[in-house]
Amino acid sequence: MTDLAKQYEQFGITPETYAFGEAVLASLQERFKKIDDIAEYNQMKVIHAMQQCRVSEACLLGTTGYGYNDTGRDTLEKVYAAVFHTEDALVRPQITCGTHALALALMSNLRPGDELLSPVGKPYDTLEEVIGIRPSKGSLKEYGISYRQVDLLADGSFDYEGIRAAIGPKTRLITIQRSRGYQTRPVLSVERIGELIHFIRQIKPDVICMVDNCYGEFVETTEPTDAGADMVVGSLIKNPGGGLAPVGGYIAGRKECVENAAYRLTSPGLGKEVGASLGILPSFYQGLFMAPIITAAALKGAVFAANVYEKVGFPVFPDSTQERYDIIQAVTFGSPEGVIAFCEGIQAAASVDSFVIPEPWDMPGYDSQVIMAAGAFVSGSSIELSADGPIKPPYTVYFQGGLSFPHAKLGILKTLQNLTDKGIVTAGFRKA
Ligand SMILES: *Cc1c(COP(=O)(O)O)cnc(C)c1O
Repeated sequence: MTDLAKQYEQFGITPETYAFGEAVLASLQERFKKIDDIAEYNQMKVIHAMQQCRVSEACLLGTTGYGYNDTGRDTLEKVYAAVFHTEDALVRPQITCGTHALALALMSNLRPGDELLSPVGKPYDTLEEVIGIRPSKGSLKEYGISYRQVDLLADGSFDYEGIRAAIGPKTRLITIQRSRGYQTRPVLSVERIGELIHFIRQIKPDVICMVDNCYGEFVETTEPTDAGADMVVGSLIKNPGGGLAPVGGYIAGRKECVENAAYRLTSPGLGKEVGASLGILPSFYQGLFMAPIITAAALKGAVFAANVYEKVGFPVFPDSTQERYDIIQAVTFGSPEGVIAFCEGIQAAASVDSFVIPEPWDMPGYDSQVIMAAGAFVSGSSIELSADGPIKPPYTVYFQGGLSFPHAKLGILKTLQNLTDKGIVTAGFRKA
C-alpha cells in the first residue's frame, strides 16, 4: 500500500475504494488542466483589479460607528467593479446572505406598478417569498410589484416566443438565475445568458437585466456582466468569499442600479457613505484573492464526484463529461438511504463537527424533510465541503464545495465507502 493510501485508510477508506478513486482521477487530468487554466486567468484578473485600484495596507483596516471615509470598504467595492467590469459595486457585511442581496437588488430597483419577469422558470426557493409567489410579509407583491414567469422549454432552451409575449409596458426588471438551485433545468453559461439578454434588449432596451450569480463566480473566464447584464448579485459565503469571508453579499453593476441598492440598504440620503466595516475587510480582500483557486478546487470535486457516481451506476447532473457553469453536482440515488449515506459520508470528512451524524428534519419552508451535511469553518458556507438533499423522489443529493481538492476528494471517497459499506453501492464497481 502506498503512504497516501494509508493516509486515507485512517478515515476508513479501504485500499479498494482508494484505488477506484485513483483510477477515476487518472482519466480526469485533461479536465483538471482546463479548470486550472480558467483559475489562472481569473487569478490574474483579480490581482490586476487589486493593483489598478491601488489596494494598500491601509485598506485592510476597518472603521467603526458610521463608517464615514472607510477607504478599505470603498476600495474593495472598486475592486469588485473592476473584476466584474461594472461601473460600481456594493460589497458589505451588512448584506446578510445571498437571498438578502437579491431581495435588496430587486426591492431597490423596482417601484410599485412595475413588473418583474423571470424568463428561465421558477427562481431559487427563498426568492418565492421575496417575490410573493408564496405569500410573505414585506414581499414585492405587498408593495404592488407584480411577477411573471416563463418556463424553459422541455429541451432546456429559452421559450423566446413566450418571453416576447410576457414583456409588456410594466416590465421593469428581468431576473436570470445562472445556477439551477433545486430545479432540474440546465445551468446557464455566460454565453447563453448573453444570448437571452440580447434578445430581451431588442424587445425592450431599457429593461434592467439582473443575474443571480450564486455559485457561478469564477467558473468561467467571463461573468454575466461581460455579456450585457446590468447587475450581478451573489453571496460571499459562496465562491467570491473564497472560504474566508465570514458573512456578506455583493451587487455589482450599473451605477444607478448599485446606487438604488445602497440607498435601500442603508437609508435614502446616506447610501454608500455609511456602513462601518469593523474588522472584516482582510477576509473580504484575501477571500476574493483566493476565490479563483478555491472555485477551481470545488469544480474539480464536482467533476470527480460526477465521474465516480456515473461509474457506479447512478444518474448524475451535470454528467461526467459536460461543461461546468456552476460548482453544484447532483447525484440521484433513487432511495432515501442513498441520500442519507452520502450526506453521512460528507459530514464524516469534515474538519469541524466530523463526529456529528446528520439526520433528515422538517426544515421551515420545505415540503419534505431535508438532510444537510456541513462541517464548516463558516456556518452554512457552501463553498466549503457540503451536501444536502430533500427526502423525496427522485432522491437527489446536491454536493458542492471543498476549499481544497484533496478535501473534496476525501469527502467523495468517504461517501463511496459509506454507500459500499451499507450495500447501496455493490462491490462490482471496482472493476468498472
Ligand atoms: C444560495 C443561493 C441563493 C440564496 O443564497 P443564501 O445565501 O442561501 O440566502 C440564491 N440563489 C441561488 C441560485 C443560490 O444558489
